[in-house]
Amino acid sequence: MENNSLNNNILSELKAKVLKLFQDGIISGFLGFASASLPMSIRPFLAKNEKDIDKLVWNSFCTINLANYLPEIIKQNKDKKIGAIATGCWSRNIVVQIQEGQLKRDDVYILGVSSRGMINSKNISDRFPGKEILHVKEEDHIVTIEGRGFSEQIKRWDVTRDNCKTCAHPDPVIYDDLIGNLAGKRSINNKYSQIDVIEEMEPDKKWEWFLKEIDKCIRCYACRNACPLCYCNTCFVDDSKPQWLGKSIKHTETAIFHILRAYHCAGRCTDCGACESVCPMGIKMRLFTKKLEKDVFNLFGVEAGLDINEPLPLTTYKIDDPEDFILKLEKE
Ligand code: SF4
Ligand code: SF4
Ligand code: SF4
Repeated sequence: MENNSLNNNILSELKAKVLKLFQDGIISGFLGFASASLPMSIRPFLAKNEKDIDKLVWNSFCTINLANYLPEIIKQNKDKKIGAIATGCWSRNIVVQIQEGQLKRDDVYILGVSSRGMINSKNISDRFPGKEILHVKEEDHIVTIEGRGFSEQIKRWDVTRDNCKTCAHPDPVIYDDLIGNLAGKRSINNKYSQIDVIEEMEPDKKWEWFLKEIDKCIRCYACRNACPLCYCNTCFVDDSKPQWLGKSIKHTETAIFHILRAYHCAGRCTDCGACESVCPMGIKMRLFTKKLEKDVFNLFGVEAGLDINEPLPLTTYKIDDPEDFILKLEKE
């Protein structure tokens, strides 16, 4: 895939910094991205030495949250730090992992990069039904899509992921070194506008919307596997003794999977969008976690992973925490 000048600048700086980290003996590996076989696809990649650096790529399809892989890679490479590139939300997930004891701050060398937002490849492929996309060229604000007998230009912002469009925190919250400059906090008019629309529905319409969304689910668990919050040794969906949940794609079972997983992410989710990006069925399950993000923000005034010194909202309590939902006082 051809790249634009902004991404090329980031990639050049990234490669130079990773080379120095290897040469100075600071890291034993660097977690970034490499090309994959199809257009608009990338894969997480651990560069293990200086020669591997050439395989690193950076483009607007780097939607996978690398924080997901860090704890396991660090476990297997104890001698030195592991380096990783981190945007705003990925760095917030690293903070959550540190707060939850999944990794130690000193185990990771973070190269922070401010995010311009990533593209949802499905937003592109949906525009070309029945056509095979063979080549994608990315310029700073335009993406050119080519296949047999067609070539079309699309504005980058028109195919940017929903979560990136409403992201107020593009800058990494923790880092050891920076690539490029910080962008600063973005002012978003209403980052919960998608949730507001659903909240305004009547209960039966809301349920209808939910069932229609999960109806497409094939229970492949790609969403769970891509999420840096889902690191349980045995997930409740895989447990057989006791079996919490059947394996079918009946609405009752699929609904329980999605509701429980969303609740497991409450107060921890950074809206990174990795779950939604990897779903082969185009399910907008990010909206389930976004609803809980909104509730946690309104109840506790906290967004996950922004402050390493602030305990996760559901792991602590204050004497004046809102408790209307658990205690109803009856007037005498
Ligand atoms: S869905 Fe829940 S139980 Fe399963 S891995 Fe995620 S957090 Fe753990
Ligand atoms: S639930 Fe989805 S959006 Fe939230 S942290 Fe996990 S992968 Fe990211
Ligand atoms: S990735 Fe999509 S299809 Fe697979 S389990 Fe998650 S929601 Fe269902």
